Amino acid sequence: MFIKCLKVGPIETNCYIACDKVANKAVIIDPGADAPRIVAALEETGCEAEYVILTHGHADHMLAAHEVLRKTGAKLAVFAEELPFLNDPERNCHNMMSEQQFEPFTPDLMLLDGEKIIFGETELITMHTPGHTLGSCCFISKDSIFSGDTLFRESAGRTDLPSGSPQELTESLKRIFALEGDLQVLPGHGDFTTLDHERKNNPYRSGI
Ligand SMILES: [Zn+2]
Repeated sequence: MFIKCLKVGPIETNCYIACDKVANKAVIIDPGADAPRIVAALEETGCEAEYVILTHGHADHMLAAHEVLRKTGAKLAVFAEELPFLNDPERNCHNMMSEQQFEPFTPDLMLLDGEKIIFGETELITMHTPGHTLGSCCFISKDSIFSGDTLFRESAGRTDLPSGSPQELTESLKRIFALEGDLQVLPGHGDFTTLDHERKNNPYRSGI
């Protein structure tokens, strides 16, 4: 899997383009802003976008999703339990971050915990990791984990926004740290890290 990361929007959300270079298929994770730049970066890869995937329903992770979906013809994949939250422009902070009218989402793929997203010969496994929001998810490939706003380099997601829960985030982080191997961690904001680095250095490794 070949991965491109673009920092988009005022709070520098990491938007990822993950490509399966065998079949030239890609997924776009968290298109938070700047659809033209995301679409241009996708075109540079020579891959066709199969899915737009959202790690959770905060506006800074999805403000460009409609435009990217329209321009690429990709399908939308969202964790089922996050959908009501994602479609509530007050709770998902859309009204705070954008002056545009909120346009509701209708996913093509409603994800469940453990569900596989397949593009070309690449698979991402959905891992439900509530805490930052009720339906927050991570997506795991053979050697990486896209950790959204659940796990950051030496930090973790905030739990004071609607549907956040420090207890649930603590449990989710424990499950992530219990995964096998030293996966590369690709978070929703900030620098990349690794699971081993976080197992040793993350201040929240034994609880929020
Ligand atoms: Zn968030």
